[in-house]
Amino acid sequence: MRLFECGSLVPGCAWHTRADNDAEIVRRVVEHMRETHGETVIRENMVDNIKARIVDETKVA
Ligand SMILES: [Zn+2]
Repeated sequence: MRLFECGSLVPGCAWHTRADNDAEIVRRVVEHMRETHGETVIRENMVDNIKARIVDETKVA
């Protein structure tokens, strides 16, 4: 399982999401960025930033 914690990108945000593939994580994070952080334009480097912070949950736990 893959895990993304929004706090690694937006300090102070406790939101996180899990999925079994990175594409699904990116999709959910982009949605969260729009709804919670007002990021209406998702730039290419934002997707790279998200991907760089997705971790294997087994390594975290
Ligand atoms: Zn957030």
